[in-house]
Amino acid sequence: MNTLDENLKLAELHVHLGSSVDPAVMWEIAHAQGIKLPTKDYWHFVDMITVNPGKVKSFNDYLDLFKWTDLIQSSPLAVERSVYQTIAGAYRKNNITLLELRFNPMKRNRNGEQDLDQIMMAAIRGMDRASLEYPVKCGMIVCLDRTFSYKQNEILVNKALRYRSRGVVGIDIAGPAASGFRYSDYAQLYKKARNDGLGLTVHAGEDEGHNSVSAVMEHLEPDRIGHGVRSVENDSVLDMLHERGTTLEVCPSSNMSTKVVRDLSHLKEIFGKLKKHGIKFTINTDGPEMLMTNLRGEMNFLIDNGILEMQDIVEANRQAFASSFVK
Ligand SMILES: [Zn+2]
Repeated sequence: MNTLDENLKLAELHVHLGSSVDPAVMWEIAHAQGIKLPTKDYWHFVDMITVNPGKVKSFNDYLDLFKWTDLIQSSPLAVERSVYQTIAGAYRKNNITLLELRFNPMKRNRNGEQDLDQIMMAAIRGMDRASLEYPVKCGMIVCLDRTFSYKQNEILVNKALRYRSRGVVGIDIAGPAASGFRYSDYAQLYKKARNDGLGLTVHAGEDEGHNSVSAVMEHLEPDRIGHGVRSVENDSVLDMLHERGTTLEVCPSSNMSTKVVRDLSHLKEIFGKLKKHGIKFTINTDGPEMLMTNLRGEMNFLIDNGILEMQDIVEANRQAFASSFVK
């Protein structure tokens, strides 16, 4: 079988901390902190924090899984351990030598009970430790949230800027669609982040249609877009992506689990259009443990199912190194 060279060094740009830690480690962290879990059965717990086709029927079902993982990671010690384990595991299991990890520190400080700077510093310690032990270059992306107020998101951008010299490389907007949230409100904040040296990405064209991709490009001018697969619904959006040279962070298994992508033929159609329009794209997991996958598995899955050729995968990996915010 045509399988990816085991020695090929990989880069992954779209991974959430809440979905990337081994359930066994999450179980230990939860117990170490005395968190009252709704089950005493480990296998039931694994079921609670991983995608299960019987349980995850929609995009919001998927986001619900993060309620537990965010809670378990809500302390400096838990964040440090989670970051360390994610980076170390990515290198050992997948030969990932460049990893960008994203998280929302404000979803991990127990509604302000814990100091946000402690959470940020803990994430940086985890990153520092992992990159001392393994040859992985890493960077942290701070996620803003659509359900947060502008004020909260502004605090997050300022934290990202404050720790820019310590390994924070970019900002993102994630979370469920929320009434009252408008990309245009964030134009100045994104501009400020860009001028002060942060990389910019935004989740769009995932649960929201192609209009979200054009809105994001118009108002926020990101370097990259998280997912963006629904831009294939409109040729002018694809042309806009091409003209601007925006890179898509595509997460195939994640999109299939959340039903954003219907099936393999739909996935093939999406990649076909991206290639036809000359769109830059990278392959990512979104969160390997929660989605029960890994980057190498994603790549081999695309090759095995005739969705992409080996040369497309090698090019997507090269693109990931090229469009990384880690310099
Ligand atoms: Zn994501």
